[in-house]
Amino acid sequence: MQRPVPPSTPEWFTVDDSTLNVALVYPMQGPAGVFGPTCETCARLAAEEVNKAGGVLGKELRLLEVDGGAEPRQVAEDVEALVATGVVQGVTGWHISSVRQAMAPRIAHRVPYVYTALYEGGERTDGVYLTSETPASQLLPAIIAHERLSIANMVRAPKPKPDTENPGAFLPNGAAAKAGLNKSIHDAGWGVFLGILAHKAESAGRKLIPVDPRNTSRTCPACGHVSGENRTTQEKFECTQCGHTANADQVGALNVAVRAGLVLPDVA
Ligand SMILES: [Zn+2]
Repeated sequence: MQRPVPPSTPEWFTVDDSTLNVALVYPMQGPAGVFGPTCETCARLAAEEVNKAGGVLGKELRLLEVDGGAEPRQVAEDVEALVATGVVQGVTGWHISSVRQAMAPRIAHRVPYVYTALYEGGERTDGVYLTSETPASQLLPAIIAHERLSIANMVRAPKPKPDTENPGAFLPNGAAAKAGLNKSIHDAGWGVFLGILAHKAESAGRKLIPVDPRNTSRTCPACGHVSGENRTTQEKFECTQCGHTANADQVGALNVAVRAGLVLPDVA
């Protein structure tokens, strides 16, 4: 059955019971317009995949583009007209929160509205489905566990080694090499970094979990074997027991996460 189509709808867009039409609201202008082409391409790819798999309830899924970069009130008016005339049976897209806030109350309870952009939280409109992260979950993966580093120990100068055969003389104690390491630790400013990390974690309502740093870079995440020989070079980890190979930094990070209880170890 053909339904009347509003004058703003493109000529090629047919409205009948063989299709399921969804308004795709994304910015085609303004500061967020830079994301527009990506939003469109991703949505088109998704629709193509859905249609290849048989569509939605046997109907072809079609996207009708709406410029979400216009004034929020204008966007809300355009989308409401599409919903009210039955041209679209759903609304989605990527657009800023002020557009969502203007649009949601006007289409709520009429069609499903899926909001995909990350946002600041607090949306409670019925019929609005939010699929992206709020700030707490945006920060969660990045800040939670770290090696408990004893910076004071690491920067302390090595003890002098008296030469027992030569009273008053000293043997080499690696002080020169250690001095280089001390400098790089100071340069990295780990204490400052951990302070900032703790502050950010607290403001996101998250806790920092310091873990025992011993052997994090020498433990095989696949079999649990601990050996300095597992770490063949600065960047390469190769387990001498099970042959597991990986990037050494990734192994260290994984072991820290395991100790903090964030991931389950592979080892039984
Ligand atoms: Zn192993």
